[in-house]
Amino acid sequence: MTRAFNFSAGPAALPDAVLERIRSELPDSGSGMSVMEISHRSRQFIEIAEEAESSLRKLLGIPDSYRVLFMQGGATAQFAAVPLNLARPDESADYLVWGHWSRLALGEGGRFTSASVAVDAGPSPCSAIPDPSTWALDADAAYVYYAANETIEGLELARVPATGKVPLATDMSSTILSRPIDVSEHGVIFAGAQKNMGPAGLTIVIVREDLIGRSGRQMPAVLDYGRMAESRSMLNTPPTFAWYVAGLVFSWLLDMGGLAEAEARNRAKKDLLYEAIDGSTLYSNRVDPQYRSWTNVVFTLEDESLDERFLAEAKEAGLVNLKGHRTVGGMRASIYNAMPIEGVEALVGFMDEFERNA
Ligand SMILES: *Cc1c(COP(=O)(O)O)cnc(C)c1O
Repeated sequence: MTRAFNFSAGPAALPDAVLERIRSELPDSGSGMSVMEISHRSRQFIEIAEEAESSLRKLLGIPDSYRVLFMQGGATAQFAAVPLNLARPDESADYLVWGHWSRLALGEGGRFTSASVAVDAGPSPCSAIPDPSTWALDADAAYVYYAANETIEGLELARVPATGKVPLATDMSSTILSRPIDVSEHGVIFAGAQKNMGPAGLTIVIVREDLIGRSGRQMPAVLDYGRMAESRSMLNTPPTFAWYVAGLVFSWLLDMGGLAEAEARNRAKKDLLYEAIDGSTLYSNRVDPQYRSWTNVVFTLEDESLDERFLAEAKEAGLVNLKGHRTVGGMRASIYNAMPIEGVEALVGFMDEFERNA
């Protein structure tokens, strides 16, 4: 077996150690059955589910006043769930827009609340975030929505926007667990698992308890934070396999030393890659350095006609899924927790050699 270094933005690489563990437990998880074959209401699965939650709570330091929900429908379902749960019918919500995903969230959110654009960084790909002094925030908004990391543009806001008493609704799909955060600065955090946590099919929602039931609105039960919290995310059959794998990823991270260690590793990875890009004449990244993503590093080749050859030769070298999103072109290397520094070193070595031969 040879594993490629997989730079996909999502579904993304999983840690080798986690895949090995899944393989060893796959036909018999201790009960003579695969974890995929057991009831979500069995004692065995409930233990797996509870351990996953407690590991995630440890990793992120989630306060007791927050509920952790294991939902389905991806981040995209949360684009609707956030307004349905948080905004009363007579309220509006503020949206901070600086990329593809926040723009989609604005469109979908606007179908369920009066969504107002507090800041718009302009057409994609954005390369900087307008100064907060220019944002038009409403002190009576039900929430302020933003995407902490724009996966396609490779643009990240590391510091948390100041919104006074208005709760933040934060899409962390592509940055969660990349380093420590202060959960208490957010009203609700959500993230699809398939980037930095596990397989597709699971969405993690971390919501402050007092916001649950706030809107008083009718909504589909599977999007209702209150119904999901009451049932411990087992209102209906949850994505059991994805939940199990996410739990393995969380304990892999804890064993590694938690998010402080993840931060050190991720900092070294992104510094190495951005330095290689900035030090070359063939590659460039146009994102303002203070907003460069730690997890999705985008770059373009000076001569676009070399793109196909670059991708083909990279693949030959075992470096796959480097093509940028179709809407922005160029290249993108997603370097989530499961990407070891060796993968980034191999990429940087390949880029250097390609440049010398170009
Ligand atoms: C991938 C992604 C989404 C969409 O996630 P789905 O789970 O496919 O709905 C939303 N927001 C961000 C920031 C993403 O990276």
